Amino acid sequence: MKPVAPPRLCACGKIVASGERCQCQIINDRARKARHDRRRPSARQRGYNHEWRKARQEFLKHNPRCAMCGQLANTVDHIIPHKGEDRLFWDKANWQALCAHHHNSAKQREEHRPVQS
Ligand SMILES: [Zn+2]
Ligand SMILES: [Zn+2]
Repeated sequence: MKPVAPPRLCACGKIVASGERCQCQIINDRARKARHDRRRPSARQRGYNHEWRKARQEFLKHNPRCAMCGQLANTVDHIIPHKGEDRLFWDKANWQALCAHHHNSAKQREEHRPVQS
């Protein structure tokens, strides 16, 4: 006969059957995971946005004109869509200054581009 392990007393004060997890642990785990999932992209996003804002300003200082029409540019576009890839994202050779109008049409071009394998 297998000996039955005695129930344990959880830190929250509840008696928990052996081998089972207390409700408080399950709730804690779930809350921690939710916090983690929420925080991870936004914290990364914040750092990324800050770096990008600085880099973009610097780039526009040196490339103040739209690459398409020569008007004053206010956005930096990625010539090859970076699709979240850091290397393409930060490669200045892949950047071009664009005015709002041409930035919008560049975005449209990207969306209509066939998916590459
Ligand atoms: Zn508990
Ligand atoms: Zn333009």
